[in-house]
Amino acid sequence: MNGTVFLVGAGPGDPKLLTRRGLELLQECDCIVYDALIGQELLSSARPDAQLEFVGKRSGQHSQTQDEINALLVRLAQEGKSVCRLKGGDPFVFGRGGEEALCCAQNEVPFQIVPGVTSSIAAPAYAGIPVTHRELASSFAVVTGHTASDDAPPDSLPVADTLVFLMGVRALPLIVKRLLERGTSPQKPVAVVRWGTTTNQQTVVGTLQTIEEEVKRANLKTPALIVVGEVVRLREELRWFDTRPLWGQTVVVTRAREQASSLVTELETLGASVVQCPTIRVEPLPETIVLDEELPRLMRNEWIVFTSVNGVEFFWRKLRDAGLDARALGASQVAAIGPATNRALLKHGIAPDYVPDSSVSEAVAVGLLERGAGGQRLLLVRALEGREALETRLMEGGARVVIAPVYRTMPDVSRAEEVRDKMARGEINWVSFTSSSTVLGFLEAVGRQFVLEHRASFQVAVIGPITAKTARENGLVPDVEAQSAGVEALAAAIRAAR
Ligand code: SAH
Repeated sequence: MNGTVFLVGAGPGDPKLLTRRGLELLQECDCIVYDALIGQELLSSARPDAQLEFVGKRSGQHSQTQDEINALLVRLAQEGKSVCRLKGGDPFVFGRGGEEALCCAQNEVPFQIVPGVTSSIAAPAYAGIPVTHRELASSFAVVTGHTASDDAPPDSLPVADTLVFLMGVRALPLIVKRLLERGTSPQKPVAVVRWGTTTNQQTVVGTLQTIEEEVKRANLKTPALIVVGEVVRLREELRWFDTRPLWGQTVVVTRAREQASSLVTELETLGASVVQCPTIRVEPLPETIVLDEELPRLMRNEWIVFTSVNGVEFFWRKLRDAGLDARALGASQVAAIGPATNRALLKHGIAPDYVPDSSVSEAVAVGLLERGAGGQRLLLVRALEGREALETRLMEGGARVVIAPVYRTMPDVSRAEEVRDKMARGEINWVSFTSSSTVLGFLEAVGRQFVLEHRASFQVAVIGPITAKTARENGLVPDVEAQSAGVEALAAAIRAAR
């Protein structure tokens, strides 16, 4: 039986603008057939065993003709595979999606269309330009700058208050000429938006008279679109995307992927371009002898102390595997080090009794001792390689400390090369560290000598005094230091330092 071909709009560039149906198909399909303007980030959502077929243009050369692409789609479907044909923007807006669908229909291959957010509306929107606006524009038209027969816009341009030209950068002089010829004012505002909705978005504004010069000066190339109309004036007031505080800044996040997402979201919301370079991977311990023994009688511990989100998550996995839930903690008091650990516990129905203000071992120990931990039994849930200072100080204070390691950290070098390339080109503005182990892991993964040689090209941001100390000792004197643990503080510190 033939598989189905899904013509899926991937959206204009920002991976978060993919529709839910699009994501679902991307995650499920046997094959992904994709174009040049599709972000790598989207492809990482595909199944690990999915067959990936690139059919886009590379540096101006067609790697495959449209006929070849059509034939490929039909062949894959005839092999019984489900095919996600991922196309930039919306599949039916100058994407030749119609031709691909026709070819499926003619070959009796079932197909479905999943519309996408088109760049023709989204890129102007991210530049602060609404394509329609009361009193300024009651219609808009999307026009190709590159018709099938010609490397030029169509001879007769449509009449609309706002004109959006796709594939028009090369034809800009001709577009300007045609508009002037039909009597459009030379003062008509024009914007050219390149890589709209992505962290590389670039916008040039002028008038019909000046825009060619402006585009030349900015050296603006494809992929870009041209917006002609009074609505372009609104950008001055409605500009939002490229005015965010960390716009134009590339920040390396060194946290393990499992925990990076809140920091990444925080930074991206502030406008930064984030390069994820996890240097450590976290994995559960194959054997957790201490915890296994403790689980049936957790309540005998006066305190259960969680030092990290990972500790919470792996602990809960064990708890569930043992057929238990939060009630197993009984009347034991719970301490959470750091706001993220606190939140992780809340998610599991536990409101910690103590969340120290500072994550420094000494302060945490003092806080616990002040709360009566001396002479009590404490279960410390943590990584195999933990900070000994905490348990030493607690034991000195008379506490009976039982250490239950639940996970360990392993080196991860998967993104090191990408970071080296970017660093060599001077494209990295910040490297952020959230713990001592990320400092050491980063130097090891990317190369100590290489990083130190390029130290002048980026700034260093860290969370907390221990991380700062480790960074300093390793030649990475922090430029900013977040005062409180927690990623919001780090993002805020970077923002403040700009
Ligand atoms: N189907 C797509 C358009 C395909 S034609 C859509 O609906 O968006 C390709 C052209 O779209 C490019 O030459 C460029 O003019 C425009 N384009 C696509 N993505 C863009 C982006 N992120 N920013 C600006 N223009 C973009």
